[in-house]
Amino acid sequence: MTRLPGPSFAAVRVWYNVGAMSETVWEIYAVRYAHHDRTARENLLGGDPHDNAPMPLDYFVWALVSGDDALVVDTGFDRAMAQRRGREFLQSPAEGLAAIGVDPAAVGDVVITHMHYDHSGNHDMFPNARYHVQDREMRFATGRAMTHAFARFPFDEEDVVRMVRRVFRNRVVFHDGDDTVTPGVTVHHVGGHTMGMQVVGVNTRRGRVVLASDASHLYANIERGLPFPVTYDISEVLEGYRRIYALADSPGHVIPGHDPLVMERYPAPRPELEGRVVRLD
Ligand SMILES: [Zn+2]
Repeated sequence: MTRLPGPSFAAVRVWYNVGAMSETVWEIYAVRYAHHDRTARENLLGGDPHDNAPMPLDYFVWALVSGDDALVVDTGFDRAMAQRRGREFLQSPAEGLAAIGVDPAAVGDVVITHMHYDHSGNHDMFPNARYHVQDREMRFATGRAMTHAFARFPFDEEDVVRMVRRVFRNRVVFHDGDDTVTPGVTVHHVGGHTMGMQVVGVNTRRGRVVLASDASHLYANIERGLPFPVTYDISEVLEGYRRIYALADSPGHVIPGHDPLVMERYPAPRPELEGRVVRLD
């Protein structure tokens, strides 16, 4: 895995000891690529059903960088899908990644938190990557659940078919529960939002950060204990909140999957990337 030369990322690989283990320290970048206006009542199950206050969603992919290594979490969607689904497209995830010196063609590992359309599109963007998914997500996306329109709606048929093709080309790494992707990066099955939803733990200079992805779309979901309405299993969503807090070094180490507040709470790595990329570590 190599990165394009980038001017302002003097990324150094730092090793330190956790007990007997050496762990790699990673930088984390959230690349914001799309936006969608919604209201609070659409985002919070068990909240006020009449709350029409604006509560928009941002769409992200995440890049983990350590020295010359880069790993990508989720692949986003493209402009055509944004049009089909009525989302506002801001930039291709590839453009955002290139802006921080990550060459998608050089990425060797992509973690797919779950296979909804906004997390598993852009099929040809990472031609050399292995894709990390949970056993249960593949089962969910290819099994009887997809015969139900409600469960099927957030999935795109082509995303799923393309993942099946990767299986046959030995480009998928399956995980069942908790696992290590590479030193300092772990995946953890939480289910809830989808059957095989996984969150990603990342060792950073400020401690253990958890990319919750859609295990908590917004800070409000996990902080108020109110699930996002698209769920496979509500009690798993709620247990997932507990698990995420247990995995992260503090509540401030949890990164929700779609919250525009992430763009306010974290700094852009360079001024010209304001609104497009923030650094989370
Ligand atoms: Zn999502």
